[in-house]
Formats: sequence, C-alpha cells, structure tokens
Amino acid sequence: MQISRRGFLKAASVGVAVTTTVGAFGFGEAEAAVVAHVRPFKLANTMETRNTCPYCSVACGVIMYAKGDLKKGEQATITHIEGDADHPTNRGTLCPKGAALKDFVLAETRLKYPMLRKPGSDKFERISWDTALDRIARLLKDDRDRNFVTTNKDGVPVNRWTSVGFLAASATTNETAFLTYKVVRSAGILAFDNQARV
Ligand code: SF4
Repeated sequence: MQISRRGFLKAASVGVAVTTTVGAFGFGEAEAAVVAHVRPFKLANTMETRNTCPYCSVACGVIMYAKGDLKKGEQATITHIEGDADHPTNRGTLCPKGAALKDFVLAETRLKYPMLRKPGSDKFERISWDTALDRIARLLKDDRDRNFVTTNKDGVPVNRWTSVGFLAASATTNETAFLTYKVVRSAGILAFDNQARV
C-alpha cells in the first residue's frame, strides 16, 4: 500500500483523536481497573524469589515468581519476573532488557550446564561441573606453566600471564567481585573484563 507523508500524518492524527476520545469516555481507567483486578490472580500461589538482573553492571533487583510446589516434588517454572520495588538500585523499575528477563530464563537455547566439544568433534556434549572445573584447572595450570612471563627483556620483573583471558560476571556481590579480582590479578592475568561490557 502506497501512502504519502501527508496522508500518513493525517491518518496518524485521526488515530490519536480516536484514542483520546476513547480515553475521555473513561475506557483508559477501565483498562487499568481490569489490570489491577487480574494481577493478584496472576501471582496467586506463586513462589517469590529475589535475584539480580544478570545483564549489566547496574545490577537491578528483580523478583521472580514461580509455580510448582517443590515440597511435593514438582518442578517450579518461572511465570513472571518484575523489578523489585524494595531494591535500592532500581526501586522496581527495569529497562527493556530486564523487563524481558523471563524470555531469557525460559529460552530453549539458554546454556544451563557445562558443555564440551572434544577435539575433532562437531558437537557439544554435556559434562558434569566436577569434570568441567577439573579440566579448566588443569588447562589453566598447564598454560600458565608454559607461558608465564616473570621478567621483560630488560630483566624488570613483570609477572604476567598473557595467553589467557578472564570474563567475570556483573551480577555478583562486592565480596565475590573482590575475590575474583584478587585471584585473576595475583595469577598474573592481564586480559580481564566484565560481562557487562560484552
Ligand atoms: S534491568 Fe537493565 S539496567 Fe537493570 S541490570 Fe538489567 S540490563 Fe541493567
């Protein structure tokens, strides 16, 4: 359908007028009343868990609502996520990314377990956390032993390890962030960044 700029503006202004008129008749309030009425049912019988948005370093507080009685052996499924009104950082607000967190949590493509693609293989396979952590520790140690640089060409101590990079999470506590920093820097790693900047 072809429409000129003038025609588009005319049609848009009619739309605004209709919307405003409907609002003047009070339907806007009716809609708000329906939402306020339905909302308690949406959250009825759900389990509330506080958490932190994992996307960026603002680290907004969220409340996750899940259905499913764990005491009865049921699996809990998240049905709703919203900003935590009591959280000092965001006071209940969320940006569009945080507001869409439920889709992220429930996405079929979300990585939930350590996965390994063995040399020569064309697919990833699930491995246990123990296996993953042992393997990471082994590979890090071997790489550090091979590539750690104690002095530069002038003999000045540098103690750096440049063949490995470390990506930390932004939604950790101050204490975890402090410990992560200490471990990474004391190991000599220079390439250190945060997931919030990715
Ligand atoms: S809701 Fe938005 S601003 Fe807040 S932590 Fe998540 S991504 Fe960052």
